[in-house]
Amino acid sequence: MKVWRNPSGGRKDEGMNPTEATNYFFYKAAEILNLDSRTIKQLVTPFREIKVECTITCDDGHIETFTGYRVQHDQSRGPMKGGIRYHHQVDPDEVNALASLMTWKTAVVNLPYGGAKGGIHCDPTRLSTGEKQRLTRVFVQRLHDVIGPHLDIPAPDMGTNAETMGWIVDEYAKFHGWAPGVVTGKPIELGGSLGRESATGRGLLYATECLFEDLGHRISDFRYAIQGFGNVGSWAGRLIEEAGGKVTLATDVTGGVARADGLDTRALTAWVRQHGGVRGFPGGDATPGDAFYSADVDVLIPAALGGVLTKETAGEVRARFVIEGANHPTDPEADEILARNGVTVLPDIYANAGGVTVSYFEWVQNLQSYAWDEERVNGELRRRMRATYADLRAARAARGCDWRTAAFVLAVSRVHQATRLRGV
Ligand code: NAD
Repeated sequence: MKVWRNPSGGRKDEGMNPTEATNYFFYKAAEILNLDSRTIKQLVTPFREIKVECTITCDDGHIETFTGYRVQHDQSRGPMKGGIRYHHQVDPDEVNALASLMTWKTAVVNLPYGGAKGGIHCDPTRLSTGEKQRLTRVFVQRLHDVIGPHLDIPAPDMGTNAETMGWIVDEYAKFHGWAPGVVTGKPIELGGSLGRESATGRGLLYATECLFEDLGHRISDFRYAIQGFGNVGSWAGRLIEEAGGKVTLATDVTGGVARADGLDTRALTAWVRQHGGVRGFPGGDATPGDAFYSADVDVLIPAALGGVLTKETAGEVRARFVIEGANHPTDPEADEILARNGVTVLPDIYANAGGVTVSYFEWVQNLQSYAWDEERVNGELRRRMRATYADLRAARAARGCDWRTAAFVLAVSRVHQATRLRGV
């Protein structure tokens, strides 16, 4: 694993891989907190990195081998937590970056968890349901000893869903007995939580509300552009429209669709479900997907891939706010450009933490064998997002820094404190 040296080390122009980009923000916080080099090394190094061979028989009888990964980054504050991604771009570096991001995210929202992430290098769109199920079961057979409700708790990510989590629960039970708390994001019938599906978009709405309230504004005062109209983007869009905001542009892997007086996001969600993307939606004008960056809106919500706001695209941004629905959508160079241009960025480790927060509520319900109603889930989520905003606001005022730096400072100090108190 390449480890990013000190941020003042001058390698930024060479371009960073995802781990380097995430660690850049970590090092900045460590510098502010005045951590010594031994502590920095301890916090930045993953606890455990696992690579496994997953061989299955495909539907046509041929044998195929896939590589799976699980990186367990830190467990000083509790069991490790993070999604499992099935995607053709899954590689050890990206899994590492996303695992450490989970450590900082769970710490920012003050959940009693550490961070992890996993994935299988595959193209899930080319696998049948049966093949995906066999692959998932083999992955669990390789990992079952190092995951568990009090050890490491996976969840869905890109390319996986509630159905995948159901298979994991079943395979894990063969080794360890019934323990639905081994994963979150499960089907409701297997111990999933009401409100989990909308949680990331809803958390993003609550975070945005806090920011705007501070500035004397409301969601309904602004126009929004959303990149990615999957789980996060479509829920964020619908909830923003319900709160009176206008979503004037939505883009995804198929292209973009725009409407100056606001898209009907409910109809667009139904269209995407049926047609696989926003392209062709009759309720707006077709635009290229990259119209997102320079959109004439007040708020940009990246909710698709990481690394999209770069030094090339950040200069095009005309919006006043970027609210990060995706994980690590903004690289450090872009962050500096946006700051120079007066754009306020609410960082991923806070803005999209609604998903892991409701995952935590699901785990709590599993441990207590007691299901909450949706009103309670959404109410607790709102409370947690608002409390975190207050923490971030205080950290920002104390340090005189931007939101992302405040979030990393808060997260790193919490993880450092827990590590120290455990006598490690
Ligand atoms: P999803 O698979 O439901 O949707 C992904 C969306 O991104 C789709 O609309 C797809 O068309 C679009 N997309 C893919 N490639 C693209 C490209 N090249 N250009 C433009 N759009 C592209 O995924 P999701 O669960 O909504 O996750 C979106 C992002 O949010 C990811 O970065 C994920 O890690 C992050 N995230 C998700 C959750 C969650 O609870 N689902 C929680 C936190 C963070």
